[in-house]
Amino acid sequence: HVAVVGSFNLDHVWRVATLPPPGATLAGDYACGPGGKGFNQAVAARRAGAMVRFVCALGADAAAQQAHALCDDEGIDLRACTTQAPTGTAGIFVDGEGRNCIVIGPGANAALTPDFVAEALHGLTQGDVLVAQLESPLPAVAHALACARAAGATTLLNPAPANVAIDATLLDQADLLTPNETEFAALLARHVGERIAADHVATLDQGRLHALCRALAPQATVVVTLGASGCFVSHPESALRGDRHACYRVPAEPAQAVDTTGAGDAFSGALAAALALCPAQPFEEHVRFAGRYAARSTEHPGAALAMPRLVVGG
Ligand code: ADP
Repeated sequence: HVAVVGSFNLDHVWRVATLPPPGATLAGDYACGPGGKGFNQAVAARRAGAMVRFVCALGADAAAQQAHALCDDEGIDLRACTTQAPTGTAGIFVDGEGRNCIVIGPGANAALTPDFVAEALHGLTQGDVLVAQLESPLPAVAHALACARAAGATTLLNPAPANVAIDATLLDQADLLTPNETEFAALLARHVGERIAADHVATLDQGRLHALCRALAPQATVVVTLGASGCFVSHPESALRGDRHACYRVPAEPAQAVDTTGAGDAFSGALAAALALCPAQPFEEHVRFAGRYAARSTEHPGAALAMPRLVVGG
């Protein structure tokens, strides 16, 4: 089983020729669909074949009803706490070159509590995988990781978005970390005192990347996702996870990318599903599957609903 603790948002997306400068009024093609890093990762894990429980906070509104209906359709076990705040929203502008700018209205997501999370994670057990991100209150995220650890489950922290500063104690609770380049650079600046430009991360040699990962999270396996350049994997010596090498790069799968929104969510969700479904496989196989899954997710517009139906081992 995979349990995802995180955000649900209704995404409002405008496709515009250029991103709006201050004071501008623009017209663009509009679409609305479900998103939020938590929900995206839950759908990815589910469509990759895992049994999924999704723990979140919703409002008492039409968007919340939509979340319930979507989870029913997908076969996701939804454990939502209902609050007075509106269900989370995101306003997203995407330009002709695929660049975006995003404003999040956390709304109900900000009301997720450690107590609710503990209750909702009841029954989690060894072999299960807990997935969390940083679009929920940090006390709830920390408690989710702690509950999962106590139950013997594997913990995967996707430290996104990059602008949320976390304590080292939260990093210590993760067996797996899946930052993208921007998130990795932010974590290095905060926790290792290394200032490395995000667009420089993919150019670093393997030895340097490995040393940085080890300094950042000595006990965790770190998978730095590098967009179209694939990803870099770094294991602590104590947890090789079936791999022969402590660190290696995995190239991206070729893709006809039309919208890379949620590629990182696809990757983390699929990785969690692979770990839960095929624990005996070498970790590198899981990473290759996650890369294949994420590549396919970029070939369709949208976030949660762009997740491909591509099953682990299928
Ligand atoms: P995020 O969406 O969090 O910024 P990345 O851009 O690093 O994360 O993408 C996550 C993963 O998705 C990458 O490691 C890669 O496997 C896959 N991916 C992203 N963009 C592409 C692309 N253009 N072609 C193929 N795979 C991609």
